[in-house]
Amino acid sequence: MPEDRVPEWLIDRDTHGMETLAKGEDGWCAAVDPNTSRCGIYDERPAICRKYAMGSPSCRDERHKWFGATIPTLVHML
Ligand code: SF4
Repeated sequence: MPEDRVPEWLIDRDTHGMETLAKGEDGWCAAVDPNTSRCGIYDERPAICRKYAMGSPSCRDERHKWFGATIPTLVHML
């Protein structure tokens, strides 16, 4: 989004020249702090991240792809 102020080091481009968030070797967004699993640019995260609803159907689908049936949820952690 034009109003995004994502740091240059986090911008990657796909084969069509579209800007994407850079990924680390582990496949996660390069902004994820490996020690805390938190966003390292939270205050400047792009609009797509701001709009993404935690616990939404697409969020659960992605978590299922990564973690399968053993997805840790807040209910499990509390
Ligand atoms: S909120 Fe966005 S920028 Fe931050 S770690 Fe998640 S995907 Fe990356």
